[in-house]
Amino acid sequence: MIFDPLWLVFAIPGLLLGIWAQVKLSHAYGKYSKVPVESGMTGAEAARRILNDAGLSNVPVEEIPGHLSDHYDPVKRALFLSSENFSGRTVAAVGVAAHESGHALQHQAAYGMFNFRMAIVPVTQFASMAYMGIFFAGFIFQSIFRQCIDIAIVMFAVMTLFQLVTLPVEFDASRRAKEQLFRLGLVHEDERAGVSKVLDAAALTYVAALVSSVMQLLYLLAIRGRR
Ligand SMILES: [Zn+2]
Repeated sequence: MIFDPLWLVFAIPGLLLGIWAQVKLSHAYGKYSKVPVESGMTGAEAARRILNDAGLSNVPVEEIPGHLSDHYDPVKRALFLSSENFSGRTVAAVGVAAHESGHALQHQAAYGMFNFRMAIVPVTQFASMAYMGIFFAGFIFQSIFRQCIDIAIVMFAVMTLFQLVTLPVEFDASRRAKEQLFRLGLVHEDERAGVSKVLDAAALTYVAALVSSVMQLLYLLAIRGRR
């Protein structure tokens, strides 16, 4: 298979948006991870407060290695914070910790989009592993090209749907995070903008991932039509 220039046309917008989102995130995070939070709380302490207040004292807050590796694990029902955010007493650390707590709150509230996203995780994982193999099988065995491309398109559509569902889940987690941070007095009025900037920049990376997926899906549809 020779390199397809059409692929570049479809890949470039998502790639550029992705780079821009990463630059924006590292700028916002870099800035606000140097701004101490007035409450003097660490990310872990802020998360603990939010979780306890919601009656989720059984959800542990643990430290994990890596940069911005923070996440809520719905299977383990546990919150994992990167060292920087776990022990950081900064606007960025508290903001990220609150966002991850927001996912735990979604889980507790059985928020529809959160449940739907969780339900399609296994099929998405399978699709992301299998689709490349099927795609290339189509190029090697030209007689079954059409069938392979069709299956690859369905698999890629599932992956794109996952990215699409991720958006409301992420925006809602940030909304819940900000609500709790201000209600519990964990961040003050003048720190609101900083929290929003970090969380909005993080959300933008998910928008970029969706755009990339949609463009790649369109590319698959384009080569299907070309044959
Ligand atoms: Zn999130």
